[in-house]
Amino acid sequence: MPHFDINDSHRINASQLDVAPRLLLGPGPSNAHPRTLQAMAMRQVGHLDPQFLALMDEIQELLRYAWQTDNRFTIPVSGTGSAAMEASLANLIEPGDKILVGVNGYFGHRMIDMAERYGAETVHISRPWGEVFTEKEIREALETHRPAILGLVHAETSTGANQPLEGIGALCREYDCLLLVDTVTSLGGVPLFIDAWQIDAAYSGSQKCLNCPPGIAPLTFGERAVEKISNRKNKVANWYLDMTMLMKYWGGGTRSYHHTAPINMNYGLRESLRLIAEEGLAERWERHAKTAQLFWDGLKDLGLGCHVVPEHRLPSLTTVRIPAGVDGKKVQQHLLQKYNIEIAGGLGELGGQVWRVGLMGYNSRPENVTLLLSALEKTLKK
Ligand code: PLP
Repeated sequence: MPHFDINDSHRINASQLDVAPRLLLGPGPSNAHPRTLQAMAMRQVGHLDPQFLALMDEIQELLRYAWQTDNRFTIPVSGTGSAAMEASLANLIEPGDKILVGVNGYFGHRMIDMAERYGAETVHISRPWGEVFTEKEIREALETHRPAILGLVHAETSTGANQPLEGIGALCREYDCLLLVDTVTSLGGVPLFIDAWQIDAAYSGSQKCLNCPPGIAPLTFGERAVEKISNRKNKVANWYLDMTMLMKYWGGGTRSYHHTAPINMNYGLRESLRLIAEEGLAERWERHAKTAQLFWDGLKDLGLGCHVVPEHRLPSLTTVRIPAGVDGKKVQQHLLQKYNIEIAGGLGELGGQVWRVGLMGYNSRPENVTLLLSALEKTLKK
């Protein structure tokens, strides 16, 4: 035994974990599907076990379905949505590249912050939070700036706006620019067609419309993005997220070790994606749209309004205007303490002005809408 006295001061007597049964109707995480949680409890195999390699192939196929793409390079990144976001930027940007970012909410700013760290020259177009960019505005910005990459957020979780993407991919090809799209709050809940819309690269998260706990994040690169990565002059400045190395593990062939894949997170993601394939994308998107409409109608009955105009409103995330004289934070606290329902407040420009309500994936159900509206009505009366 070593001759040191063991310090017991941090040896606290922590109780067995038991958390309240929250209904997670905020901007994420959403509640994981019970089948996903069950899959995650399955015994482990090694990260190079033939069973795991087969499971990796299935995840890639199911992701291609969810994203409507044939992209060979479609994988889950170990980490949360920000890791997949950082992987996209770290791999696609070479120092000095110009990136144009559409900033109409919090996550456009994050894209710029990350891009700068990888040596990009960043330029942006902006819109008030809650609004979207028109094709004309994007064309004009491409013409002015001639960037190597255009970054857009499909579903701005901070505002509830749904950025139209049809036609933007074609525009980017005209200007010889890659289109990178944040689909964290749209994948599995909002119509999205990676190939048909000619999106070159996209990333997402697991804890929104996929209903898998946070910790694994889908990423897809099309041919033009893979070509850019393959012709890099400099090594990717982030070892962990270097897709040129990770491709060897996920891309078939040698399947060589890069880092130990989070086995049970992959089990969970596989089950979440299986649920999407079982339900069907059209049915799933329609369910999200119907549930959101039910919520919006109910808000109207309560005299509450939405921040985003109906034609650009996301079905997965609604920003509800907080009525004058109401303390938004107090309402959130009451909903959590009395009803076990989590919703969130606004970020940045919308701080104190809106509540953010997520009806994502498994949580997008009429009974959750009824429960929330009723709890909200009682809370507001109080
Ligand atoms: N992009 C968007 C649109 C998001 O909503 C989020 C998270 O809320 C992220 C990126 C970052 O994802 P994460 O928090 O999982 O790292």
